Amino acid sequence: MSYSDDGLKKAAETKEWLERKINELEIELNNLQDTLAVVNSVLKSNSFQSAQAITQSNNMINQESSSSNSYRKSCNVCHVEIEMRKIGDRWGAYVTDGDERHKCESNE
Ligand SMILES: [Zn+2]
Repeated sequence: MSYSDDGLKKAAETKEWLERKINELEIELNNLQDTLAVVNSVLKSNSFQSAQAITQSNNMINQESSSSNSYRKSCNVCHVEIEMRKIGDRWGAYVTDGDERHKCESNE
């Protein structure tokens, strides 16, 4: 076997090895891309859920502090400032600095 034959044989073996290696790496690359897609979808769904949860809790806070469920006015009878609050479906007169009802208004 001449030197060039030996060189050709080695080159052919190297070619085979390279092709096998490239094939293996392509399979691994596909697996990595599949895994990345799974991880991405998990991250997306989690961030979507937490964004939704933040929106929902913001809406709840907005509803609780919404001025449509309470407003301040002057009592028609004793003329002190009172707070009208909607609890459930019912409006009630309350003192402005606590949870007590403002009596004279509620007794009307
Ligand atoms: Zn009053």
